[in-house]
Amino acid sequence: MNLPTTVYDLTLSELKTWVAEQGQPPYRANQIFESVYHRGLEDPVSWKQLPLDFRQACIRRLSGPTLAPAEKQNSADGTWKWLSKLQDGQYLETVLIPSDSRKTICVSTQVGCAYGCAFCASGMKGFRRNLTAGEIVQQVVLIDRHLKSVPGTEIGTGHQNRVSNIVFMGMGEPLANFDSLLKAIRILNAPEGLNIGARKITISTVGLIPMIERLGKEGLQLELSVSLHAPNDELRGRLMPVNRKYPVKQLIEACRAYVRATKRLITFEYILIDQVNDGPEQAKELAVLLRGLLCKVNLIPCHPIPEVLFKRPPLDRMLAFERILREKKITCTLRRSRGLDIEGACGQLRLRQLLESADRPV
Ligand code: SF4
Repeated sequence: MNLPTTVYDLTLSELKTWVAEQGQPPYRANQIFESVYHRGLEDPVSWKQLPLDFRQACIRRLSGPTLAPAEKQNSADGTWKWLSKLQDGQYLETVLIPSDSRKTICVSTQVGCAYGCAFCASGMKGFRRNLTAGEIVQQVVLIDRHLKSVPGTEIGTGHQNRVSNIVFMGMGEPLANFDSLLKAIRILNAPEGLNIGARKITISTVGLIPMIERLGKEGLQLELSVSLHAPNDELRGRLMPVNRKYPVKQLIEACRAYVRATKRLITFEYILIDQVNDGPEQAKELAVLLRGLLCKVNLIPCHPIPEVLFKRPPLDRMLAFERILREKKITCTLRRSRGLDIEGACGQLRLRQLLESADRPV
């Protein structure tokens, strides 16, 4: 199926080029961006400030939204999760993690995932397709509009109700959909659009070395987060099949080169799984691996999912792991997992939909 072009697929400069081709002045593109991203008017019919014949051209050229919210779940800890249906019948997920100071959303970049990490629901049903830039942008717009429409006390307090931070940690491997990802980031980053600063955007990767190298050359001030989860090839290979292609030492070398090129700190994600990768010997090995690298480590208690037997370690074991890293001068934090009661680990809500409706076109 050929996916239609929506206004969300176009950067401001692409829109200006098309506007010029229609014989219109460039400011018409700014007016369209303003209507869509600030006033929530995504149907060209409602762009009343445009001349009628140009509005008609917009209606012919730009399709309406291609993402429809299908289900929304609210966790007791304040996390919200949306399941949305795409035009070709596929489903994707987006999670809102609000706090008083931030409204962070976790955005998907692919339907399904090809990387099959052992602790993740997304990889279980395989890869379906890459999302378009417009489908990535629409997830942010959907939640930004939701935030603007609810009273401040409903989703966190004391902070303006709009998306403030984006993490590309939802379904899929963001760097495997590099072009659409970067285009979406440029659209979301545009001051005339949602104006979300590059430093507020985090890309999370399983460690695709050529793409990390490419990202380092883009000159963007993005945050990069690498899913490590083990300090050696034997263990990481069991948890993450991608390690066979991009082994630990080569990956860390690529990270060191990225830091040299960008002068930006890298975050390593490390899911602590009971009796698998949470022992003192792994903590020491990890400290040696990361020695001298500008980085921090996020220790994440394993998020139990019904399809996988991994368990969360007891608190004293997790604290001991953290203590060893700190003693070895590795910056680290032990994170609180949110969304446990709404299937908040990546891919779980979509996986349940798939399991419950095997006959649904997905
Ligand atoms: S953790 Fe990320 S890369 Fe691994 S299977 Fe899940 S979605 Fe894919």
